[in-house]
Amino acid sequence: MSSLYLHNATLVTGDTERPLIAKGSILVRDGLIAVVASGESDHPQVDRSIDCGGALVVPGWINAHHHLYSTLARGYAVPGPSPKGFMDILERLWWKLDRALTAEDVYVSTIVGLMDAVRAGCTTVIDHHASPGCVDGSLDVMAQAFRDIGLSGCLCYETSDRNREGEGIEENIRFLEACRKSDDDQITGLFGLHASMTLGEKTLARAAEAGQALGAGFHVHIAEGEADGEVTRERYGKELFSRFVEAGIAGPTSLFAHGIHLTARELDQMKETGSMLVTNPESNQNNGLGHTPLLEALERGILCGLGTDGMCCAMPAQARAAYLIQRAARRDSSVAFMEAATLLTRNNPAIARRWFKTPRGKLAPGYQADLAIHTYRPITPLTGDTLAGHLLFGLPYAPVKMTIARGRVVMEDGMISHVDEEQLLAKSRECAGALWKRVDAMS
Ligand SMILES: [Zn+2]
Repeated sequence: MSSLYLHNATLVTGDTERPLIAKGSILVRDGLIAVVASGESDHPQVDRSIDCGGALVVPGWINAHHHLYSTLARGYAVPGPSPKGFMDILERLWWKLDRALTAEDVYVSTIVGLMDAVRAGCTTVIDHHASPGCVDGSLDVMAQAFRDIGLSGCLCYETSDRNREGEGIEENIRFLEACRKSDDDQITGLFGLHASMTLGEKTLARAAEAGQALGAGFHVHIAEGEADGEVTRERYGKELFSRFVEAGIAGPTSLFAHGIHLTARELDQMKETGSMLVTNPESNQNNGLGHTPLLEALERGILCGLGTDGMCCAMPAQARAAYLIQRAARRDSSVAFMEAATLLTRNNPAIARRWFKTPRGKLAPGYQADLAIHTYRPITPLTGDTLAGHLLFGLPYAPVKMTIARGRVVMEDGMISHVDEEQLLAKSRECAGALWKRVDAMS
């Protein structure tokens, strides 16, 4: 389908000048937004006309840090006592589960994870992948799932020395070269690094050199737990962020996830290098790890975004979690509300813009036609001034009735009709059961 006309919609534009258009309409042509207007106009040549019935149309949500490989962990319980602390969670759950993944698991976990994303109105996912048992080609397997669903993805493999030295370097290089060759703006890549604590000097230097030669940004975890900084100091005699600065990893196209234990000096360095920081509030709470110094980072002018770290793709709910965790941590009911809304609506699109050529995250001509239509009937006046309140208190609970990605309807009334959902879900349950047995056998 090359053209769509949406009308009778309440448009949340993402534009600061005109954030809201009541009874608005959008013309979509060839994957891009062609016209955004107040009221209706006549488009007799359009392939499909959609009456939104007053529903809220927002730019498709963007998840700035995800791990689709973790999808099949839902419901899995680690044998023995619950993991306690950052290293225990990694060693007893994630570093076993990722080692047990097969190529089939990678495809299935990606596609069913993206089915969840589509239902949540999320149309762009920035992912950080690990599957040590099937490294080579794993990013192609994921890319195929993105294409099968129709979403945009920015992919990378998390290089580390934890299984074998330099694992993931070749896969990142291969994938980035393929992305460059295809020049395909649906799938793009970053050079993935796990975290300083699992990267020896040789591997970090090799990865930095390779990433720089390809002109790639880096996607890396930082200071999620105290161990990351402690190991870096003990083993390499360096502060965490300084190590990445010295290696040439920091910079305007590099994204750092978490940053919970970054110091004031390190936040200054992050600003000086133009690097990005992504907070993952639900994941940090789930793991009992603390919170990102988000307000301190924003005060410095660091571009901060919002991710889920494998939890889900429900982005308005993440924004809500982001301000709640900041308030709880600071015991201050006056902070972080507008900042959380800004992360969701403006910063995540700005982050995506650093790697994707086609702009997204705004209802404006020339932007990618990524749209989420939420069934939402406001119970209080909805205006530009009250919008943030509706985004954080209303949207997390408002179902998405239609998702449009790259100009194509990919979900309608709960159905993703271009894939066999039942068959894929049956397969994911089967793969998950077998995967859990293999993980249990490692204990
Ligand atoms: Zn992560």
